[in-house]
Amino acid sequence: MTVDYDAIIIGAGACGLMCAAQAGLLGKKTLTLERNDKPGAKILISGGGRCNYTNFNTSLDNFVSQNPKFLKGIFAQWTVEDTVSFFETFGGVQPQEKTLGQLFPTSNKAKDIVSTFTKVLFDTRQDLWLNTLVLAIEKTIEGSYSVTVDRNGKKETLITSKVVLASGGLPVHKLGASDFALRIARQFEMEVLPTAPALVPLTITGKDAAWYASLSGNSVFARVYNEKISFEENILFTHWGLSGPAILQISSYWKPGEIFTMDLLPKFDLQTILKEERSRGGKRTVGQILNDYFTKKMVDAMGEFLPNNLKIASLSKVDANLVVETIHKFKVKAAGDKGYDKAEVMRGGISTEELHPKTLESKKNPGLYFGGEAVDITGWLGGYNFQWAWAAGFAIAQDI
Ligand SMILES: Cc1cc2nc3c(=O)[nH]c(=O)nc-3n(C[C@H](O)[C@H](O)[C@H](O)COP(=O)(O)OP(=O)(O)OC[C@H]3O[C@@H](n4cnc5c(N)ncnc54)[C@H](O)[C@@H]3O)c2cc1C
Repeated sequence: MTVDYDAIIIGAGACGLMCAAQAGLLGKKTLTLERNDKPGAKILISGGGRCNYTNFNTSLDNFVSQNPKFLKGIFAQWTVEDTVSFFETFGGVQPQEKTLGQLFPTSNKAKDIVSTFTKVLFDTRQDLWLNTLVLAIEKTIEGSYSVTVDRNGKKETLITSKVVLASGGLPVHKLGASDFALRIARQFEMEVLPTAPALVPLTITGKDAAWYASLSGNSVFARVYNEKISFEENILFTHWGLSGPAILQISSYWKPGEIFTMDLLPKFDLQTILKEERSRGGKRTVGQILNDYFTKKMVDAMGEFLPNNLKIASLSKVDANLVVETIHKFKVKAAGDKGYDKAEVMRGGISTEELHPKTLESKKNPGLYFGGEAVDITGWLGGYNFQWAWAAGFAIAQDI
């Protein structure tokens, strides 16, 4: 059946909803197809149900991609201020800044973000079909696209000239995630870069596993770094390894087999602390000094590597170095990650080389657009992924 829409949008997630809303505001008419029984499933649970919907500090540096500069053309069209103003104007959402430029609705309710979209879609008469799984997209002889769907158990084929692939990436299958956009990109001979879970906890196995597990529940403010990047935020020990914001951040820059480093006391210089203690007579032990900065559980666990019972006065240079190096340069060899069901995003995906930098239309396949997580643009933790998804939705809406 040929349908009379400016475009069919696949996925009522962050990118698809923004695309439909912006198209509506431009007087265009879209149909959005969503496999779930409600729109914005991932938005609703994002940021612990509070939705960190953008970040004041957004710049190209906050994204992992083979070509982060690609974002320039998109972010020139849609800024953080545009995000704030859109949700304020159409949903009455007031922003509040939490840590590190992260913006959340003052209401702390992610559903206020989703209801902004449902309101705009309703007001601008956009169509949204829920419980509709898109099965296939084919090019027709006339140069249009046929979109085959399973709608409430019934198969239908829709013909349209423009299709927006906003069906997201692989993380969290139970929220509707699928490889659909990647599959379609490959089918249409577009390059798809290898994908991996990102913003994901890391696991520790083997002889170190019990040590990490013994610290389960302990959180430490740390600087986590490798030769490419450094993050200062909390880490969290768990019974299977490491989590917490700094670990999620470094995970986007980590590959199996690589070692990264944690400075467990980034705001202090332990070398100086030990020197000062020595000049006061050095009566306190290593354990007592560490107790000033860490939980007892952590100090006890450190006792496995460090001479906790030695007084600073009797600490050899080698031992002092061991203490300083262990605390400031703690090496981590993670075994793996917790996988797509625990990842906040996917890295890799459709190569930006395949897309027009202003419109996100496929260079090889006019009429096919790709935005959001399926594209090789991965934001840091902190609202950057939504900023990319909103901006992509806006840019596509201008062109369909
Ligand atoms: C637990 C968690 C918390 C997060 N918190 C934040 C946060 O606070 N801030 C932030 O910036 N980012 C956050 N993210 C990341 C953010 O949710 C994603 O980057 C963003 O949703 C990607 O937008 P998208 O439109 O590309 O995909 P999605 O929002 O995932 O939308 C894709 C939609 O397409 C639908 N779909 C897939 N395949 C088909 C098909 N074949 N047919 C029909 N429909 C289909 C899916 O059901 C889904 O609704 C979080 C992610 C997770 C998992």
